Amino acid sequence: MMLTFTGMKSTDAEKLWNGGQDSHGNPAEKAISDGKGNPCRHCLEMIKEGEAFLIVSHRPFAAKHAYAEQGPIFVHAEPCIAYDDFNHELPSVLQDSPHYLVRGYSGDERIVYGTGGVVDQQAIIDRAKSLFENPSIAFIDIRSAQNNCWQARIQRG
Ligand SMILES: [Zn+2]
Repeated sequence: MMLTFTGMKSTDAEKLWNGGQDSHGNPAEKAISDGKGNPCRHCLEMIKEGEAFLIVSHRPFAAKHAYAEQGPIFVHAEPCIAYDDFNHELPSVLQDSPHYLVRGYSGDERIVYGTGGVVDQQAIIDRAKSLFENPSIAFIDIRSAQNNCWQARIQRG
């Protein structure tokens, strides 16, 4: 089974780069990376020391329902290229920590109970393939195991 990793939609990132509001309706906060653990959720690369980035609240779901978690994420302040998963490998942002929270969602964006768990970085792909054997899982979200921040999404294909 092939897996595809995706980050924040380019339309959402472009809105922020054009001075738009985040998912809370606030302007983006600006910061400079210290090079330690600042993942960009659009290109899925780590933000290098000295690079400017935006701190925003992001809701990576289409609708504002009860399961639509929203939380803090970082994005490069200067426009970057959306992650293109041509290798079907772990993007850089998922290689920065030893563990991640991996959880399956249904097609209507609901948590599929029993699928969530903290897994070793090296086990993310195997865990995702195993979860996708369940046909009720439409996508898998990866979050920080320490801070619960949304990192990336995995889909079949
Ligand atoms: Zn970026």
